[in-house]
Amino acid sequence: MTVADAINKGAVALSEDITLTLKQLLETKHLYQSITTSFKDEILKTAVSGIGGFQTKLVETDIGRLYGGSWHVWQPSQEWKGPLHVQMPAGPSKLAFKVPHVKLFCHKCGRVEAFNYLFGQDSLDFGTAVTGVTPADNQPTTQIFVFSFHCQSCKGIPEVFLVRREGNKLTLSGRSPIEHVEHLRVIPKAIARFFSGAVVAHQSGQTLAGVFLLRVLIEQWVQSQAKIKNLKVDQALDEYFDALPEDFKKRFPSLRILYSDLSVDIHSATGSAELFEKTQQQIIEHFEARRLYKL
Ligand SMILES: [Zn+2]
Repeated sequence: MTVADAINKGAVALSEDITLTLKQLLETKHLYQSITTSFKDEILKTAVSGIGGFQTKLVETDIGRLYGGSWHVWQPSQEWKGPLHVQMPAGPSKLAFKVPHVKLFCHKCGRVEAFNYLFGQDSLDFGTAVTGVTPADNQPTTQIFVFSFHCQSCKGIPEVFLVRREGNKLTLSGRSPIEHVEHLRVIPKAIARFFSGAVVAHQSGQTLAGVFLLRVLIEQWVQSQAKIKNLKVDQALDEYFDALPEDFKKRFPSLRILYSDLSVDIHSATGSAELFEKTQQQIIEHFEARRLYKL
């Protein structure tokens, strides 16, 4: 194996790793969550396995440079000839990566669909070209990619994502439209916005705000169901509970208990993710059960 072959082999593995990591990020992560690509060392080992001596150092240096340097986004209109053979402006070769097709919830189709990659760009690349400002050498390579995808089925308005890269960490920094919230159809329309707000807050790392919104949801719901308006929350919770069928009371979590657990969390400013997820699930169960009981 020649040095060029070894570098190419390493570059292919790095590029595929970026593509897979990106797919995982877009399909499974929420706003401001990150994934780190961490296979550089393993990839290096495999790449240099067929060569020896001082050539190993050459390969390692070049792969390190490709991995640490800025990455080039491949466009679907370009022919893919490998990570080191994508046409780009003059300068040292960059590591190119393919953007995967992804499975996302389509707001128009109302289900998870395959989305095709349409366009991608490093928005800082453009900034550097205009301002001539290049980040300092000792900083981890920062890139902010914009990617757009459209639903294979309805070919509606594309979904657009913002992905920030710092070194080997990719963070989902933005998306338009907002992420779909599951189970929303189970929740009564009048309080659905509190539920979706709570889920988005929790998924974006603001669990305490999410806990607060779940409590608002319960409060608003029981008050809307009370016979007398403007009841105190405690009274409305009691009245609501008393009106439920005996069998329902025994089998499903009481909103009164959920409300009190959420209050404890809010007063201690904890924002427990465990409590949030448990309560979210129980609220869904509660409303599913109401449907079942035709309430
Ligand atoms: Zn669609």
